[in-house]
Amino acid sequence: MDKTTLKKKALEEIDRRADEIIEYATAIWKYPELGFKEFKTAELTEKKYQAAGWRHEKGIAITGSKAYLKGDGSRPSVGVVGELDALHIPVHPEAHPATGNVHACGHNSQMAAMLGAGYGLDAVKEHLGGGVVMVAVPAEEYIEIDYRNRLREEGKLEFFGGKQEFIRLGAMDEVDIVLGSHSAMDQEELIGVGGSNNGFIGKLVRYTGRESHAGGAPDKGINALNAAMLGIMVIHANRETFRRGHHKGPPHHHQGRRDSEQRARRCQDGELRPRQDRGGHPRRKQEGEQRPPGRRRGRRSRGRDK
Ligand SMILES: [Zn+2]
Repeated sequence: MDKTTLKKKALEEIDRRADEIIEYATAIWKYPELGFKEFKTAELTEKKYQAAGWRHEKGIAITGSKAYLKGDGSRPSVGVVGELDALHIPVHPEAHPATGNVHACGHNSQMAAMLGAGYGLDAVKEHLGGGVVMVAVPAEEYIEIDYRNRLREEGKLEFFGGKQEFIRLGAMDEVDIVLGSHSAMDQEELIGVGGSNNGFIGKLVRYTGRESHAGGAPDKGINALNAAMLGIMVIHANRETFRRGHHKGPPHHHQGRRDSEQRARRCQDGELRPRQDRGGHPRRKQEGEQRPPGRRRGRRSRGRDK
């Protein structure tokens, strides 16, 4: 069978099962689950493997799985990756009413693309020179750091991302190359080829202050929030020393919200400037000090508040 016929046959099979593939994407959309908790999504995916008759392994990095189209360990093998997890954005208009989770990153469609590719390739697998492996990975999003820290302490994982865990566990050892897809914004073409993505390292920084009565003895306390703000500013000051394309995100706060959410919130903060007294910082009047001439008591010049 030549390549054109092979492709045509695969595409026909995808079209034939279009309703089922879309139904699968919709089911995942309706029940969005966060990283390393994608139990229902994993179960649904495994049922699909089963129905297709693919040999599969489950429970990799807690909720991940792999399915082998040929089932015979053919090499080279191509992995088709799908990401199982959603985001927690309760203000999103389509957020799940009970959990506040939503597939705002479109991983449900990515899972459907994985399954669809599997169906298409399954129809022509005897003609392929290697193997095809469906790879469903948990936790692409870097969120809920406290929860993942606990999992690490319990020895259930070492890294906070599903793909990193797959590599650590050797689950990618028999996969020679992987293909993945992702929804995109601001793209003119229906389908495009993406560029490279930078990796990152997450750090948890804990600022510990000292409690003290804010009214009676403020000088006895140490303000952890001030220290945290200073820390953010110092990290931010590094930013301009980075080459284009490299950047640092702000530290997560203790609840481990999503990085991009933090960035958005910080942008808002950046636009809200505090009022400034013209002529320098306000200071306490020293004993015996006279008010500067021309300044009436109680009046302060106000900076523009936009
Ligand atoms: Zn994503």
